[in-house]
Amino acid sequence: MRPDASLEGLSLDTLAIHAGQPPDPTSGAVMTPIVLASTFAQDGPGHHKGYEYSRSGNPTRHALEVCLAALEGGEHGLSFSSGLGATTTLLHTLAPGDHILCGDDVYGGTFRLLDKVMKPMGLAYTMIDLRDLDRVRAAIRPETRLLWMETPTNPMLKVFDIAALAALTAAAGVMLVVDNTFATPVLQRPLDLGATAVVHSATKYLNGHSDVVGGAVVTSDPALAERLRFLQNALGAVPSPFDCYLILRGLKTLGVRVRQQCASAAAIASRLEGHAKVLRVNYPGLASHPEHALAARQMRAPGAMISLELAGGLEAAVGFLKRLQLFACAESLGGVESLAEHPAIMTHASVPEPARRALGITDGFVRLSVGLEAEADLWSDIERALAG
Ligand code: PLP
Repeated sequence: MRPDASLEGLSLDTLAIHAGQPPDPTSGAVMTPIVLASTFAQDGPGHHKGYEYSRSGNPTRHALEVCLAALEGGEHGLSFSSGLGATTTLLHTLAPGDHILCGDDVYGGTFRLLDKVMKPMGLAYTMIDLRDLDRVRAAIRPETRLLWMETPTNPMLKVFDIAALAALTAAAGVMLVVDNTFATPVLQRPLDLGATAVVHSATKYLNGHSDVVGGAVVTSDPALAERLRFLQNALGAVPSPFDCYLILRGLKTLGVRVRQQCASAAAIASRLEGHAKVLRVNYPGLASHPEHALAARQMRAPGAMISLELAGGLEAAVGFLKRLQLFACAESLGGVESLAEHPAIMTHASVPEPARRALGITDGFVRLSVGLEAEADLWSDIERALAG
């Protein structure tokens, strides 16, 4: 693609390969160069070519940020050193005394940030089940500034109505931020549905190869973008140019990866549902999922994350995780390799009891991230591990 070529009207798969990534004008290199320089020469004080110091801006990071914005259909993309770095920076747009409404089922680290870091700094929060719109409306206070949500949620895979929550928050002058890590822009674009901003742990599907920790925010709100750009530099949670390159490289295959992973996950979820040793399967693509109809309307496919409750509690769950051979027992998700984990002991240990159990994160509860291995091989692995 020529540097001046328009991105107008291009589909996500094309944008992932070309947005922000024209051939390098100096060499013609078709892959975005990794610019490792920490500082940039100026013709004279204040006369630079757009870059001064790599914390404030870097060409490789810029390419990634343009691409991220294009994929989410936003005007402004910002990248960070981790998903939590992105979240921390976004929460710094608030001030002491402000109130946050937060979906009751979020990544444990997001909860820990709100509870152990932001609350002592004067930000109040309320965790709430976002399926009940009347309760959400009633929970909005005069000082509520932000509604934070994931959909599908981690790890219960609840699905929330982004457009309905966007209408409700807009009417109250509250920002709606959607953590789109699980769905990715391949399956849903929250900004198109009225969200103020989208957040990602780029560590997951965006990078897709489990070799980078990274984060992102995309918004079309110019005032929010300006404040975020200031905070990105002032707080300093920026990604390295090499990590930006790796995420850009991963993004090129985002569409094919996510579509294939969804197809395998859908097949595995329906087989799990019929298995004698499985008490319950959470997967938005199953007719038994409470928000199945909403997921079908809101998402292009139901995702590649599955959570399930095994009969036999902790012993059964730990045995299952130890017996799996292709699924590695590991935190994280969204890579080409399949992963399995125990949320109560691993990713959600920071959510205190009894809230954890009330959500359904019990001792027999396991989360699967379905990767790109052949679906038949993955199912054989699961069947063998369930058999004991
Ligand atoms: N959001 C979700 C949904 C996550 O699953 C995670 C991490 O697992 C994060 C945010 C935090 O991202 P990171 O680990 O890149 O800081």
